[in-house]
Amino acid sequence: MNKSLKIIPLGGMGKVTKNMFVYETSEEILLVDCGIGFPDPTMLGVDLLLPDVSYLKESKKRIVGMLLTHPHDDHIAGLPYVLPDLPVFPIYGSRLTAGFAKDRCKDFGIDVKINPVGDQEFKVGSFTVLPIKVTHSVPDSRHFGITCPAGTVYHGSDFKFDSNPVDGVLSEKDKIKSFGERGVDLLLSDSLRSERKGRSSSESLLRETFEQEIVGVKGKFIVTVMSSNIHRIQLAVDVATKHGRQVAFLGRSIEKNVETAQNLGFLKLPNRIVDKREIEKIDPRSVCVLIAGSQGQEGSSLKRASQGDHDLISFKPDDKVVFATEPIPGNEVNVYEAIDNIARLEADIAYSDINEETLHVSGHASADELVELINLTKPKYLLPIGGAYRHMVQYKKLATTIGYQPNMVIILKDGQTVLYEDETVKLGENIDLKEVIVDGLGIGDVGTRVLEDRRQMAEAGIVVIAILVSGNKGTIVGSPEIVSRGFVYMKHAGKLTKKITQEVNKNLPKALGKKDWSEVRRRVERRIERLIYKETRRTPLVLSVIKQV
Ligand SMILES: [Zn+2]
Repeated sequence: MNKSLKIIPLGGMGKVTKNMFVYETSEEILLVDCGIGFPDPTMLGVDLLLPDVSYLKESKKRIVGMLLTHPHDDHIAGLPYVLPDLPVFPIYGSRLTAGFAKDRCKDFGIDVKINPVGDQEFKVGSFTVLPIKVTHSVPDSRHFGITCPAGTVYHGSDFKFDSNPVDGVLSEKDKIKSFGERGVDLLLSDSLRSERKGRSSSESLLRETFEQEIVGVKGKFIVTVMSSNIHRIQLAVDVATKHGRQVAFLGRSIEKNVETAQNLGFLKLPNRIVDKREIEKIDPRSVCVLIAGSQGQEGSSLKRASQGDHDLISFKPDDKVVFATEPIPGNEVNVYEAIDNIARLEADIAYSDINEETLHVSGHASADELVELINLTKPKYLLPIGGAYRHMVQYKKLATTIGYQPNMVIILKDGQTVLYEDETVKLGENIDLKEVIVDGLGIGDVGTRVLEDRRQMAEAGIVVIAILVSGNKGTIVGSPEIVSRGFVYMKHAGKLTKKITQEVNKNLPKALGKKDWSEVRRRVERRIERLIYKETRRTPLVLSVIKQV
């Protein structure tokens, strides 16, 4: 039986970000997207997360290509980390997707070739791929109709059906419909906003928002947006220009994306752009600054400016700062910290809690649009993607309200695969997906054990006990030295120091009978952990260093 198709989400399910999908036939593998994920606040010191590609490294099958759906970092920014680990294969994406993906790779010194997708269907190995334009919070996004000998799948990544898109490029609903008429076996669909009734607002609504916010501003008009949201940047630029303000861009990500989008014709800028070094030198009433860092990211231009710590801009009482974005779930603390800091500088601020109606425009489809995609594609089976578990469950409920049997909607757990054969979709094997962590320059060298240690140190500090042991007799030399950080001030903890010393003296000689030094250290550490807990009800990380002299 060689007519089967396996689908594997390598970024895990219920994770929203780090998107990467495997379409696998008996001989070939087609990949879709390669994104990064964002760590939750408990993952101390972690910069970002990557999809686990060990499955691809072990697989003997030929990777025939990769499709990129749209230029968001959670769909393309994993490329520079993942590509060096895999054999070379062709990559396909729209022009802007290709532009942003190349930029991400260039940052790592990787020169990647991306084949532009047009309107026509094309072959990738034994797969036939139909690119379909859809609207989203970044221009030039695509869905893909994927046909292979085993069946027909519609890959409906992030989208909404915006009836008034900023660039005038509508979703190609006719094309979706005619693809649906071929008979779609399985629809993979964005599910992030399945909880919301009705339809998502048009991105163009932001034009009115900017119009309202800019009126009467006596100082600089400052807008912070997601750096990839070229539509929103265009609207802010248009409104600012109309109100006689010149535009400046501040922050690495926004400067880079604006340059690429303009070069590719996705952004129309006025002839004169204010140099970022001139921002504070011209009349504040005649400038609009688009600044990166809308998520309050550490080190971003907005964050530094909010702390009064940016060389090129300072927020003053007559200025207005508009957060034209909403916090990514889990990131609220960073965003509100930035907002609080700006409030302390007495600049005026607008953000979604104040102006919910118009600053809260999502790039994802709400319930009615999700149903519309189902009706256009008329799939046999449904597979919600791109949402947390609750969003997928809500999507399933939504599908049952329009007549789908619950068993026609598949909700995958992490590591689970889908198998399509004999015209039936069933759950396939489970594969073991690891959390691949990027911390500084290291990829994958930080695992759960390291994170556990970091958490323990963050919560209760660390206690280090240094012990000298005489080599030949195995006896303790002098008293152990005890130092701590983030636990207690040891100088004022004479009683505890004494007890720890007693415990070491009592137990170490017995432990030294074991020849294995790591075992000796573990025994000492366990004893001391127990003692410290008994005395203080705290659980610092205990580390012993035993040296032979
Ligand atoms: Zn997206």
